[in-house]
Amino acid sequence: MRKIAAAAALCCLTFVFLMLVVFAQQHDFSKVQMKVTKVSGNIYMLEGAGGNIGASIGDDGIVLVDDQYAPLADKIRAALKGISDKPIRFIINTHYHEDHTGGNLPFSSTSTIIAQDNVRKRLEAGGKAGNGGTVSFQFEPSPKAALPIITFDHDVTVHLNGKDIRALHFPSGHTDGDSVIFFPKENVVHMGDDFVTYGFPFIDVMGGGSVKGMIDAMEKVAAQLPPDVKVIPGHGGVSNLDDVRRYVTMLKETSAVIEQGIKQGKTLDQLKKEKVLDAWQKWSGPFITTDAFIETLYNDLSGKKTGELMKHN
Ligand SMILES: [Zn+2]
Repeated sequence: MRKIAAAAALCCLTFVFLMLVVFAQQHDFSKVQMKVTKVSGNIYMLEGAGGNIGASIGDDGIVLVDDQYAPLADKIRAALKGISDKPIRFIINTHYHEDHTGGNLPFSSTSTIIAQDNVRKRLEAGGKAGNGGTVSFQFEPSPKAALPIITFDHDVTVHLNGKDIRALHFPSGHTDGDSVIFFPKENVVHMGDDFVTYGFPFIDVMGGGSVKGMIDAMEKVAAQLPPDVKVIPGHGGVSNLDDVRRYVTMLKETSAVIEQGIKQGKTLDQLKKEKVLDAWQKWSGPFITTDAFIETLYNDLSGKKTGELMKHN
């Protein structure tokens, strides 16, 4: 329980609070420790605060997937130095949330940042993120230097260290700019926040996310991966495909319950009062509680979200 609470505190809660600028006063980044886990071959996972960082480390240099928060850049550099002296040449952002892109600015002068088109658009524009209800917050436009300078629509491959590192866009899951990153030679995949292990996921309905897109993304990814693939979640420890499948099952079952309630003409308040997701209570977390997840699914599936999908060029 403590582990779940800690994971959630370090990702979603911190994300929300940072956006509210309350976070900076409450969270002492100097106390954050960078934990390095060797996932497979030359692929490592770095856990500090915010989203998991994936790192491909080899003779040509380092490719990072996500970069946590700006104040952690030196700790990230130090952790990587413990493995290799090679430069961080590329950073791929899995999506726009600041707990995954905050390090863009401090790394931007020495690394090339790559992301899906919508990541750059949302970082550039600033705006609102949230579940279309009580989980709602504003974020400021990012400075120009923090924006990805290479963007892609559907997919991109980075050829480095004798490997093909592939980022593939899945529309409208956790956000509308999510990429899943494949390291086929090492049999590792980084899911971004389309898959997390802290309980009910945060679906950024205001940022173009949807539960159906999340289910679709995870089913498509799971279908094309070998059964023994190692899965780096957006938040949480290294997982496997069974963990992903359990998560997808939960998403399907819970969204079916809410969809049925909507068809029966029930209001959000009724669904909460009837505790329609009680059977999935063990997925409730400190950030996305069962009620917050009911609200997320209700706003998403009833089309009552007020956020707008970013349009491609
Ligand atoms: Zn996120």
